[in-house]
Amino acid sequence: MRLTHLFTKTSKTAPGDEVARNAQLLIQAGFIHKEMAGVYDYLPLGKRVLDNIIQVIREEMDGIGGNEISLTALQQKDPWVTSGRWDDQVMDVWFKTKLANGTELGLAPTHEEPITRLMKSHIHSYKDLPVYPYQFQIKFRNELRSKSGLMRGREFWMKDLYSFSRTQAEHDAFYEAVSQAYLRIYDRLGLGELTYKTFASGGSFAQFSHEFQIVSPVGEDKIFVHEPTRMAINEEVYTDEVLAQLGVKREDLVEKTAVEAGNIFTLGTRYSEPLGLMFTDEAGKSQPVIMGSYGIGPSRLMGLIAEQFADEKGLVWPAVVAPALVYLVLIGEGEVQAEADSLYEQLQAKGIEVLYDDRDERPGQKFADSELMGIPYRVTVSARTQASGQYEFYVRESGETSPLTRAELLAKLV
Ligand code: ATP
Ligand code: MG
Repeated sequence: MRLTHLFTKTSKTAPGDEVARNAQLLIQAGFIHKEMAGVYDYLPLGKRVLDNIIQVIREEMDGIGGNEISLTALQQKDPWVTSGRWDDQVMDVWFKTKLANGTELGLAPTHEEPITRLMKSHIHSYKDLPVYPYQFQIKFRNELRSKSGLMRGREFWMKDLYSFSRTQAEHDAFYEAVSQAYLRIYDRLGLGELTYKTFASGGSFAQFSHEFQIVSPVGEDKIFVHEPTRMAINEEVYTDEVLAQLGVKREDLVEKTAVEAGNIFTLGTRYSEPLGLMFTDEAGKSQPVIMGSYGIGPSRLMGLIAEQFADEKGLVWPAVVAPALVYLVLIGEGEVQAEADSLYEQLQAKGIEVLYDDRDERPGQKFADSELMGIPYRVTVSARTQASGQYEFYVRESGETSPLTRAELLAKLV
């Protein structure tokens, strides 16, 4: 993308009305726009980052047999009344609205009820199971406090997968497969070393659920980490009884603050029973389907990655999620410009995403913007690099600069 085609602008200073560092930087760099507390628009560069995160999650969910769908965010009241979750005391984050005729509707905070009802049209016999539909969708939650930027939105993106299984053993095997897929996702996003699979409260069908907690100074959760096994225990289940059961000692655990980036949950027949999602087993007997739900927050991850890797100059994106791999700075006109144009085209043709700073701006402004936007590599083409036959190659994360010929540059990037 040429920066002369990009409508967003960077700004010199961080916004005054934003306390979270992730949102400050993302707004300053022109990745997102703040509508109100907890509600953000994704601008072209921000949309690319979000899409890159979503793509990593999609590949891993497809890899374990997921079927991607897209459910409506407008929800009918009745399945929620049936499950007992329409009540504002039970589900305290509801946004509700009404049709013109007065019929009440909810704006999706999550999708267990509608998807359980939907699956009644597709699941009848043991032959129809197991199945794993999932989606990327905007969720609405009227969060009491929303001061963590993208990490706690009132409108945010979620990947939610629901599993429908015949037996507990079939459910357990899939639950483990999701757990492994989640660890691969955090690894691929550059967060592997900070991620702990964490025991958390489980509801009525399992003693525990599992959260995927990412250690961060701005985390809202408190966990107790057991480094040798890379597991952790959420403070909500941190009791002597649980420690004994998990075979760990208090003195071997280290308290940390962390961000919940994902959650996997055994639902059992919590929704299938009241909503009547049944199947006929091999003996011809009607049974309730065994369910699980599996969430990840792509927008929370975007805020977390922004916050985690940033330095005093701005954002620092890992290559997998960066809006482009290369920031190409043009300093000059005429032949220099022709050289930069041809490099831009060759890199694009090789499938490398490039942000081409072809603007009529001072070099200092171009360099500062490349730092603020956090693009992994910067390549400068100027009269000086023309004369030497070597571009200036700069690595955002390490700050190292080296001269490279075009062939050396291509060898490095392709
Ligand atoms: P929290 O305890 O932080 O409120 P939760 O338990 O309500 O999270 P889930 O209902 O399990 O979260 O949602 C699944 C995933 O969606 C979470 O693991 C998180 O990554 C993401 N998520 C939840 N709430 C928000 C939010 N308000 N803004 C952004 N992402 C969110
Ligand atoms: Mg919540």
